[in-house]
Amino acid sequence: MRLALTAFLVICGCAGFAAEKNVAAKPINTVCPVDGKAVDTKGSFVAAKDANDKPIIIGTCSDACTQTVKADPQAYVPAAVANKKKD
Ligand SMILES: [Zn+2]
Repeated sequence: MRLALTAFLVICGCAGFAAEKNVAAKPINTVCPVDGKAVDTKGSFVAAKDANDKPIIIGTCSDACTQTVKADPQAYVPAAVANKKKD
């Protein structure tokens, strides 16, 4: 348990960890992973998990892209983390 917590802190960074408590869920990306357009910050987001099993929010540019990501969130995680269009 202590090891897991330490790893979590290392991944997040102390400042980020402290700040996250008071911030609403925000997408990790600003580029839609489906088509490369700018993420609509007022749009609906898709919950997923990154390669370290950490919960993340994937933002998209439109409802259509949200549905596309929802159909297979893990397929879009690498692109969302890299903040670019899926290859
Ligand atoms: Zn899109």
